Amino acid sequence: MSHETWYQIKMRAQAGGKHLSGAERMLPQPLLPQQAETLVHRAIFHPRGVPEQVVLKIEKIEPEKIEILDALPVSEIRAASVAEAWRALENLLREEGFLAPEKILAHFPETYPMRGAMVLDIETFQRWEPDFQRGIRVTGMDALDSCQKTAENGKNSFREAIVLATKTAHAPGIVGEICVSDDPGYVTGYFASRRRGYVRISPLKEVGDEQGGRLFLYHGSSEKVASCLDYLEHQLVQVRNIPNLPTPALPRPDRWERLQNTLETLHSAGLYRQVPEMESAPAGEVRFRGQPLVMLASNNYLNLAHHPDVEKLVQNVAAEWGTGSGGSRLTTGTSPWHTRLEASLAEWQKTESALLFNTGYMANVGVLSALCGPDDTIFSDALNHASIIDGCRLSKAKIVVYRHGDLDDLERKIRQENPSRGLVVSDGVFSMDGDLLPLPRWLKICEKYGLFSMVDDAHALGVLGETGRGSAEHWQSPQPDILVGTLSKTLGSEGGFVCGKETLIDFLRNRARSFIFSTALNALSVAAAWKSLEILQAEPWRVRKLQENVRFFCRELQNAGIPVQSQSAIVPILLGDERLAVSCSQQLLEKGIYLSAIRYPTVAHGKARLRVALNAAHTPETLRHSAAAIAQTLPVPLR
Ligand SMILES: *Cc1c(COP(=O)(O)O)cnc(C)c1O
Repeated sequence: MSHETWYQIKMRAQAGGKHLSGAERMLPQPLLPQQAETLVHRAIFHPRGVPEQVVLKIEKIEPEKIEILDALPVSEIRAASVAEAWRALENLLREEGFLAPEKILAHFPETYPMRGAMVLDIETFQRWEPDFQRGIRVTGMDALDSCQKTAENGKNSFREAIVLATKTAHAPGIVGEICVSDDPGYVTGYFASRRRGYVRISPLKEVGDEQGGRLFLYHGSSEKVASCLDYLEHQLVQVRNIPNLPTPALPRPDRWERLQNTLETLHSAGLYRQVPEMESAPAGEVRFRGQPLVMLASNNYLNLAHHPDVEKLVQNVAAEWGTGSGGSRLTTGTSPWHTRLEASLAEWQKTESALLFNTGYMANVGVLSALCGPDDTIFSDALNHASIIDGCRLSKAKIVVYRHGDLDDLERKIRQENPSRGLVVSDGVFSMDGDLLPLPRWLKICEKYGLFSMVDDAHALGVLGETGRGSAEHWQSPQPDILVGTLSKTLGSEGGFVCGKETLIDFLRNRARSFIFSTALNALSVAAAWKSLEILQAEPWRVRKLQENVRFFCRELQNAGIPVQSQSAIVPILLGDERLAVSCSQQLLEKGIYLSAIRYPTVAHGKARLRVALNAAHTPETLRHSAAAIAQTLPVPLR
């Protein structure tokens, strides 16, 4: 060998000041050009990104100065989870005679931001690498056979790791190495020492995790450190007899641990959700955890969910129709109550026809996915309800989100897209902010550009307009092409519906999958909604009472210095911080007031709020008392 001219070639690729990839080879001159090409190829087509700069450094070396080492023997630990793998590593360190493995491992995260390795004294826990930020880089090594295998194009993480580990293990004073790759796709790490060999351990992290590091364990006098660092950085080493290890099958992280981790993250961010169990029917006041409470969080706006007339009717319907509908609407699930309620809804909303869905959620998803496809563009308000968002996604249409309530932005975006087919969709009353869609101008825009107009009036029905007919009545405007509503809020039952032209309804009966492929609502829910609608229309004072309650409550809060306003039954009190919202909600609960903290993902991060939903059954005394309690609970800047 020594009669040949040898070179060391190093490749380093980076982008945005960050290291992307690197490699080095030692090889005789004739193989150099081809190897250079291989390394450039690897730099340019690296999975971690496109490099902005690739540096190739080629230096002549003296082959007689190369130390030949046998590869460390390889063994393997496969753990069921990341936590278990780290425990296995800790045990291994203990077996190897390290006195404080947990202390050693506690230093490991400090290596994550470092480019090179940390050198940790296992007795004093002093760090010996000269530059704490950069760390020590091991260079001057290669596999002995790499020059013969010039065709080997791709990267073999295992071979590179064992070359480095073998060299490191032979450095004076190094008694072990712990390494976790920062490659997000590679979850295997290792412990290596001359005594123990190279122990592959997986999984030491989750797939997608970009944190990794390298820790050298040093044992020896401080005088010997210099020779150790010199060996790591400068000694030329070739490693031979590297075993062939098949690249591991894609790691299989424990499927339950991922879920557990997510839940823990939610907990610590104040975003964990539970399902509180109520101890009485929804009303202005309820029982919860053994206490009577003022209910300021229910959408049962007109207090019809527990109306005696509704109850009586439902008992009769139960006697006649039982509990389940037994089939989809297109097969055997349609009772006269279904037909009757659809007729009432259409008449109420002054549209040609109406169609029931099992929930408002399913109505939105069904309509949007039936009406729109890949050739459509849907223009959707940024704060639309999640069921609209899901419907848009399911439709596979192009989705263009316009700024909340900003009709100039809507029109600008329609012009920009200039779609030949499409739909504009908005909440009539926004469910978490309580503000209104300016319906007349919005409808004009839809009309002007020939787009379907779709309004979700879930929080407007029974709330807006003199008789509670919703957005169209409030604005004294025609209906949109597609009006979606729910039976589950004002109408105190469950189910959703769509009102519109008979053509629309007929189309939905034939095309809306959430209508077709789901068992029909039971007659009880349908009859209950029908009766509630009858009461709502016969007793418009309920709507007026609710509207009066909103004005009264907002005034009370404003008088206490809290800036709120609302034209709907939803009065949001913006707090921002998630944990603050949760803590206010808890304090209010102790004061006898049930008021939900609304957090991400229902609203954006940092937009957490208390969301008051008022009820026609609230008395002025209740509302005055509640407003005072809320004012008392809020932090000072808001007051
Ligand atoms: C509640 C709500 C829905 C969903 O209605 P459900 O009948 O509860 O499924 C849809 N859209 C809006 C705006 C809502 O507030």
